[in-house]
Amino acid sequence: MKIGIVTSEAVPFAKSGGLADVAGTLFNVYHTKENEIYLFMPMYKTIKNIPSDLKTEGAIAIKIGSQEIEGQILSKEIEKGKTLVLIKQDHYFGRDSLYGTKQGDYPDNAERFGYFALAVLKAIDIMGINIDILHLNDWQTGLIPLFIKDKRLNIKTLFTIHNLGYQGNFPPGILDLLHIDRKYFRPEKIEFYNNVSFLKSGIVYSDFISTVSPTYAKEIRTKEYGVGMDGILNARKNCLIGVLNGIDYSMWNPETDKLIYKNYSTNTVKDKEENKVKLGEEFSFDVNGKPLYGLVGRLAGQKGIDILVDALNSFLNEDIRVIILGTGEKALEDALIDLQKQYPDKLKALIKFDEVTAHKIYAASDFFMMPSQYEPCGLGQLISLRYGTLPIVRETGGLKDTVDDYNEYTRCGNGISFSEYCSDDFLEAMQRAKKIYSDGKLYKQLQQNAMQCDFSWKRSADIYMKLFKRMLQS
Ligand code: ADP
Repeated sequence: MKIGIVTSEAVPFAKSGGLADVAGTLFNVYHTKENEIYLFMPMYKTIKNIPSDLKTEGAIAIKIGSQEIEGQILSKEIEKGKTLVLIKQDHYFGRDSLYGTKQGDYPDNAERFGYFALAVLKAIDIMGINIDILHLNDWQTGLIPLFIKDKRLNIKTLFTIHNLGYQGNFPPGILDLLHIDRKYFRPEKIEFYNNVSFLKSGIVYSDFISTVSPTYAKEIRTKEYGVGMDGILNARKNCLIGVLNGIDYSMWNPETDKLIYKNYSTNTVKDKEENKVKLGEEFSFDVNGKPLYGLVGRLAGQKGIDILVDALNSFLNEDIRVIILGTGEKALEDALIDLQKQYPDKLKALIKFDEVTAHKIYAASDFFMMPSQYEPCGLGQLISLRYGTLPIVRETGGLKDTVDDYNEYTRCGNGISFSEYCSDDFLEAMQRAKKIYSDGKLYKQLQQNAMQCDFSWKRSADIYMKLFKRMLQS
């Protein structure tokens, strides 16, 4: 099979969140003897780890409004049958960040990713690849299925929704800029409350739709979680599945992780403690004998940071320690900095994006907090399970599918969960965690349960492969 993954980010080249981890890993796991894999992404100014000897496949010119916007298709076969394809267009992608600045999204994101969508199809044509399946990811790629249908190309598409909250909705002026026929601007097509929705285009025109956990696949068909797309998702429910993401255990493994202070495994889990001590030293706070609650993630409403701030306001009066690494909405960053000022010995708020510190926090913390309002899959809890760091999560989306609440009667479970989205219930969950921590034997048992969970990619990749085969037969 010839499979193209199209994404706006992928590790190790560019990352702002979980999509990058997923796309980068799929690039590796789809690559087998039977499959030829292509990864299409923009050539950002900030792109990392790309080979120096990129091949120029050809120049392109795409009509945006009345202008011909030139660009280049660059490629590199990284291994036999595994090729990276980059769309180079410096006006659109030669910027300091992927999607926007602190002030907000780049105002021309519709144009940037509209160009990207058209350029990917040009690249396939120029390179003469007989792609069987395009695996498209999120709104940035949502116009591709429409262009494929419109041009009657013989390529099947799977559109994966990593987060329904990001829809790529833009004023209808983009139709003319991208030369999209006005016949598509209807509520049952790509119109979404007088805007053009790139995400809706992906939902309506792809051959199959997936999202990143079975629970989220159900949730997004409800009013509460559907963000206005529940109607159209229900209309396509026979072509919608939830496939749980995995994590790359070659990158996220406490036994081999070079970024943490001290390696450990299920047999040497006591060495995890050294990570905690060293983290305490590095960030100058005394963590000795106190439960350490960590968080690494985007500081966004979705992630439950508001109820976290509320809950911590009272919880920090107890003898606990908290370390938070993240960037995001200014108000939430400020709220965490304020808390740090109030409790300088107990809470560290690191407002930055920092891979190395992230690894250290996963390894050093006793608990990992994810009180999300909604969570399509979530990678943080999967990573922390692997590192024997018990996740405290709200029962939603992928968190519900991967974390089993500790049951004091059966003594089973791999973490702690709560259901109602409110600070009181989250606080209660954190207090339960503290109680578990104080019972050393029980804590160690749950830690073993957590570390033995298998959320590797193999299972998910097998599901995608079966789906692709079915799509090609239909
Ligand atoms: P998202 O909704 O942001 O995709 P996920 O839990 O699916 O959330 O994935 C987030 C990924 O990004 C994880 O690998 C997490 O460790 C990483 N991450 C998030 N924020 C930061 C940060 N500030 N520094 C380092 N890594 C981060």
